[in-house]
Amino acid sequence: MTVLGPQRAGIPLPQPTAVSRPFWEGCAAGELRYQHCGACDRAVFDPAWACRYCDADALQWRTSAGRGEVYSHTVVWRPQAPQFTAPYAVVIVTFDEGFQMLTNLIGGTVEEVRVGLRVQATFHDVGDGITLPYVEPDRS
Ligand SMILES: [Zn+2]
Repeated sequence: MTVLGPQRAGIPLPQPTAVSRPFWEGCAAGELRYQHCGACDRAVFDPAWACRYCDADALQWRTSAGRGEVYSHTVVWRPQAPQFTAPYAVVIVTFDEGFQMLTNLIGGTVEEVRVGLRVQATFHDVGDGITLPYVEPDRS
């Protein structure tokens, strides 16, 4: 019943791009940012230049309240790269604003992860200017 924690420094890190930089800047500021399409009124994630639903280039950044629920999950016991600490719980979260994000669950146990679990976003600086978004069980 080990409580899952964030990954340590030394793991392969994401490389922010021109389109994803606002998202990563949000993580560093403790904010979960997503895009909203002004043409079709839908939440969009991953960061993109145009809406994945209607192709309009009317995307504006918004800040999520950071609360949602687990849509799907799995547990990794044998990581693909040796720098990762296993086990870790990979989850797809549907946030209350309507977008989904692939992330890891921490602050809970492997046994606790389930579809529908309410979660909240949390952030951890992993070094090299990158702060990673995670979710943890919403205990409020
Ligand atoms: Zn759209």
